[in-house]
Amino acid sequence: MTKQQALNLLYEKIQVGNALGLASSIIHWDAATLGVPEKSLADRGAAIGWIGGESFRRFMALDTIEAIETLEAVKGELNNYESAMIYVFGKAYRKAKAIPQEEFEAFQALTAEAQAVWETARKKCDYDMMQPYYEKVFDYQRRLCDWYGYENHPYDALLDDYERGANVEMLDSFFSALREKIVPLLKDIIAKDNQPKEIKGLFDISKQRELMPWLTDFAGYDRTRGKVGEVEHPFCTTITLDDVRITTMYHEDNLMSALFSTIHECGHAIYQQNMNAELVKHGLADGSSMGVHESQSRLYENMICRSKAFTEILLPKLQEKFDYFKDWDVDSLYRSVNIARPSLIRIEADELTYSLHVMVRYELEKKLVTGEIKVSDLPKLWADKYEEILGIRPDTLANGVLQDVHWSAGYVGYFPSYAVGTAYGSQLMNTIKKSIDINAAIKNADISPITKWLKENVHSKGQTLSPDELLKQSTGESFNPKYYVDYLEEKFRNLYLK
Ligand SMILES: [Zn+2]
Repeated sequence: MTKQQALNLLYEKIQVGNALGLASSIIHWDAATLGVPEKSLADRGAAIGWIGGESFRRFMALDTIEAIETLEAVKGELNNYESAMIYVFGKAYRKAKAIPQEEFEAFQALTAEAQAVWETARKKCDYDMMQPYYEKVFDYQRRLCDWYGYENHPYDALLDDYERGANVEMLDSFFSALREKIVPLLKDIIAKDNQPKEIKGLFDISKQRELMPWLTDFAGYDRTRGKVGEVEHPFCTTITLDDVRITTMYHEDNLMSALFSTIHECGHAIYQQNMNAELVKHGLADGSSMGVHESQSRLYENMICRSKAFTEILLPKLQEKFDYFKDWDVDSLYRSVNIARPSLIRIEADELTYSLHVMVRYELEKKLVTGEIKVSDLPKLWADKYEEILGIRPDTLANGVLQDVHWSAGYVGYFPSYAVGTAYGSQLMNTIKKSIDINAAIKNADISPITKWLKENVHSKGQTLSPDELLKQSTGESFNPKYYVDYLEEKFRNLYLK
């Protein structure tokens, strides 16, 4: 195979893969947002499953690795896109190949069943139902570490699937920084007991909906290259780079949830919309990692839209729509969108405590993978960790160890990405603020200078850079948790302890 033949073969495979992915995303979007007939759901699920399987089979064909090896032999002649493509696909191919076929298939069947069982187990708060599945999932993950191989800690092998280059050494130092600074800060805040008033009332859904174009335009989401749908659990999906869709949900009694979840999904969507078109052909039109993707959504949601500057422009908009805010001032709104208190459910956690929920999962997963702790002890260990880190114990299993779908879906090593991603965002913003007046941009309702910086340094790069390379190139240093810890300390000390 010549170099050109190898490139052409990969381009063709990627093109077909992209087309299959597009079809699958449309089927999913339809089912999630359009209220399709209930009876069609099984066929749709089967079609998505078939598309995924066909995509995987085509990718794993022998000519893929032949093309990759041909190109690896002429590395010096490849441009940036070609090198990144070989790296990303070579690694994915070899990892997938390392898993014995029958083990892989058995695990797919196991997790499909486990997710259905988890739904019931969570509702019934029945850990006995779930325990045998978790045991099998973690047994498989331990074997997976060996198949993948690792240098230091077995968990490193799993982490890399979600967060390229992440390892226990890096995460231990990240979480110990949080343990040292954020855990005591939270304790001080609880002791002070001066929580702001909650935004509580009924907010007409049609009026909530009217706010959204203003909000998505403020964020810089290009509505002409996407669509906004309504669903129960918001998500963002890329059909093509010129059709990046977001979803939002409305609850009459929870206005803030619609606002902030929309901004969150805008952050993901803007990342995709700002990618360089050349990435598509090379199969690299996605985030550098899950964490880097999450860094963008949380940067827009928290660092921009939970800032005081943003509440200054948000308040008049709210007052225009809802009498409820008639007597509010900027200060009280700012405090109310920044409630900080221990809670039991990760996905509902506030900005200060969110990463502490992830810390609980990280510390348990790490020991489950090595076998230092047993699946049968999880409910108690989970509750103990919540008490130790957040100061509260779950009242039920649904509010405790059974709250997340991840383990039943076979995602082990996934959780830390949420927290490090949030921290990458702080490191990026720390660099941005050296050249851009962030507060002035927000108050002027024109954050395009911030988005332009992110486009140049993060979005346009897609998967051509690892998170570490991306941070080094854009901020001048590798991941440093200090920026996140400093940001949280400054913001929440000012809010609660001054
Ligand atoms: Zn997200």
